[in-house]
Amino acid sequence: MAEGPQRKEFTSVNQLKEAMGGHFAELARAAAEGTKIAWCTSVGPAELLRALGFSVYFPENHGAMLGATRMAADLIPSANARGFSPDICSYLTSDIGSYLKGATPLQKLGMAGPPKPDVLVFNTNQCRDVKDWFQFYAREFNVPCLGIHTPRAIGELEQSIIDDVTCQIQALVEPLEKVAGRKLDADRLAEIIDLSRQCTLLWKAVLETAASVPSPLTFFDATTLMGPAVVLRGCQAAIDYYRVLLPELRERVADGVAAVEGERFRIYWEGMPIWGRLKNLSLQMLELKTCVVASTYCNSWIFEDLDPRDPFRSMARAYSSIFICRSDDRKEQYIAEMAAKFKVDGILYHDAKTCPNNSNSRYQMPQRLQAKLGRPFLIVNGDLNDLRLYSDEQTRTNIEAFVEQLAGT
Ligand code: SF4
Repeated sequence: MAEGPQRKEFTSVNQLKEAMGGHFAELARAAAEGTKIAWCTSVGPAELLRALGFSVYFPENHGAMLGATRMAADLIPSANARGFSPDICSYLTSDIGSYLKGATPLQKLGMAGPPKPDVLVFNTNQCRDVKDWFQFYAREFNVPCLGIHTPRAIGELEQSIIDDVTCQIQALVEPLEKVAGRKLDADRLAEIIDLSRQCTLLWKAVLETAASVPSPLTFFDATTLMGPAVVLRGCQAAIDYYRVLLPELRERVADGVAAVEGERFRIYWEGMPIWGRLKNLSLQMLELKTCVVASTYCNSWIFEDLDPRDPFRSMARAYSSIFICRSDDRKEQYIAEMAAKFKVDGILYHDAKTCPNNSNSRYQMPQRLQAKLGRPFLIVNGDLNDLRLYSDEQTRTNIEAFVEQLAGT
C-alpha cells in the first residue's frame, strides 16, 4: 500500500485518455492516409489550419512529453552537437534531439514518430525560438514555413497591433490554400472559431473552480487536464471532455472535497512547469498541505476574444493578448488579479534556465509584487525539460522553508 498522501484521481480520467488518444490516432491516420498535416506553435492559428482541413500537430506538446517522460536530458546533446546551444529552449533542443535520435514517447502510443509536416506555421507571440525550431524542420522536410510576427512586451493592445496581426493572419490564407489544395470556407472557419471559444470558456470555468476553498484541483492536475485545450481546440472532442470534467469539479466543490487534504496554504505558480518533476513536487505539496491553486501557464490557453462573427480580427486579438507577449506592467497587473481571485498566500516563480521568455523573476517583478500584495515569494531555479539544470535537494529545502515562512506570516 502506498505511504503518505496521494493525489486524488478524477473519475473522468478515462475520458481524458480517450480525448488525447483520439488526437494521436487522428494524426497517425492522417499520416497513413496522406491527409495534409500542419505543425503549429501552441498559440498559433490552429483554427485556420483546421478550417483548411489540415490535421494539426503541436511540437511543443511533444516537447512537454519528452520532459514528462524524462527523456529530454538524453536527447538534448544531439541537438547541441548540431549547433543548437544548451542555453536555448529545451523544448526545441529535446524535440530536435528526439528527431535526430529517432526516440519518442509517441512510439508507446503506436506512432513511429511525429507525423511529417506539409507545412509549419508559427507565431512569435511567445518567443523567437519557435521560428528557429520550425525553420529547422522546414529545411529537413523541404516544406514551407509560414508565420506571424507578433510584437512583444505589449502594454495596451492598440488598434495598430491588431490591424497588423490581422493582416499577417490573412496573408497566410493563400499559401496555406496552395498546400491544402482547397479554398478556405468562411463558414467552416467561423464554426471552428466557435468550437474553440466554447473550449476556452469551459477550460476557464474548470480552472476557476480552484478559487474555492479548499481547492478541488491543483496546478499539477491542471498541467494534465489542459491537454485537450492545447491540442484539440477547435474540435468537439475537447468540449465533450470539459463538459464531463467541469461537473466533477463542481461536485467536489459542493461536497467540500479538497485536492490537497487539510489545505493550509494556497500558492500561485508563475512560469513553466518542471515537467520531469511534477509528481515529486505535487507529493511534497500534499505533505505540506499546500495547494498550488493557479498558474499563469495553465491560464495561457484561455482565448476569450475569439469571435466567430469576426474570425481574423478576433484571432489577432486573442493571440496577441496572451500573458507572455505583454509588458511587465500588464503582467504584474494580471498576477495581482490572479492572486486576489485565487486567494493565494504566496507566489512561486520558476526561473526556467532555457526559457527566459516565460521566466518573470529576473527583473525584480517578485519584489515589486511582494511590496504591492504583501505576500511572500519563492524563486525556484530549474528548467522545463533539462533536469541537469535542476536540484531536487535544493528545491525541496527551499519549498519547505517557504511554507514555514507562510506559516509564520
Ligand atoms: S516560450 Fe519558452 S518553452 Fe515555449 S517554445 Fe518559447 S522558449 Fe520554448
